[in-house]
Amino acid sequence: MSTQILSTLPPKISVVIPLLNEADNLQELYSQLKAALEPIKKSYQIIFVDDGSIDSGFEILRQISLSDPSIQVIRFRRNFGQTAAMSAGFDHAEGEVIIPLDADLQNDPSDIGRLLEKLEEGYDIVSGWRAKRKDGFVLRRLPSILANWLIVTMTGVKLHDFGCTLKAYRREVIENINLYGELHRFIPVLGRQIGAKITEIKVTHHPRTKGQSKYGISRTIRVILDLIMIKFLMSYATRPIQSFGLIGLLSFLVGFVICGYLSIGKLFFPAGVSQGWLSYLFSQTSLVERLPMLVLGVLLLLTGIQLISVGLISELVIRTYYESQNKPIYVIKEILKFEDSE
Ligand code: UDP
Ligand code: MG
Repeated sequence: MSTQILSTLPPKISVVIPLLNEADNLQELYSQLKAALEPIKKSYQIIFVDDGSIDSGFEILRQISLSDPSIQVIRFRRNFGQTAAMSAGFDHAEGEVIIPLDADLQNDPSDIGRLLEKLEEGYDIVSGWRAKRKDGFVLRRLPSILANWLIVTMTGVKLHDFGCTLKAYRREVIENINLYGELHRFIPVLGRQIGAKITEIKVTHHPRTKGQSKYGISRTIRVILDLIMIKFLMSYATRPIQSFGLIGLLSFLVGFVICGYLSIGKLFFPAGVSQGWLSYLFSQTSLVERLPMLVLGVLLLLTGIQLISVGLISELVIRTYYESQNKPIYVIKEILKFEDSE
């Protein structure tokens, strides 16, 4: 009876593993995971997400899952990418703590225990930091150092290694964020926005011994584009008219002053002024000499109007975004009420 109840309770820990063509690593990964999770003495589930593998990976996972009820395997119809695979794993994860991990044995399952201990000190996200990363320098570590520096500078979330998949998240963090594109590495940034307490610990990293890496240098560019988008979402998403409007208004005002000045000259001093202090403002210039200024003025006026319009349209879009999803513009941690404390 008691085992029955136990087995229907949600597990405490969900390990989520995105994988693409990692057949040679799966068996070893499975035994290392078991060896790491059993001593923790907490209920757990392991969710493998097969992101459209074309090797024998899924068959291996099917065999493993037949004999082990803690295993779940999700198979995509085609390759949707690591972020999508992680996202599917998160959607199916039932644990209070969710821990993603690479399938290629570059992350070490034996770090899971330490991540959990750190989380229990009261954090919502514990980020793994591959302090001694075992990847090539020019194509991997150097772009990663630059990207991490850029992310820290632009978002203010001070972590050393956003790219490390191995991190521990409290369920609430994952439930409150949506992942698109390559966003999995920005979960701590999205988490910070909803008020998550974040820290990091060093984790072990191994060189890849079997299978191939799925990424090249082009990933860095995609990460930078995502960063720009995240920065935009962080700073302006709930108040677009404030940011677009401000720049628009400035541009409009400068344009207005320039055009006003040119119009006054044209209307009141068509031939220019040759003497007195007014001659500094309205000297005898030809139309050709005034043309660049006129173009600038008109350009600034138009830009200003455009930006203000974009701001207003964004306000409409944002309202649809939040209201269609019934998404509040705040995140509540807990509510205390008189009835609860009775
Ligand atoms: N992966 C995935 N879908 C993809 C690309 C990668 O599920 O489209 C998985 C891959 O199998 C591995 C993890 O994501 O488990 C990290 O990929 P990889 O090791 O190739 O990245 P690297 O460590 O070289 O940065
Ligand atoms: Mg790898």
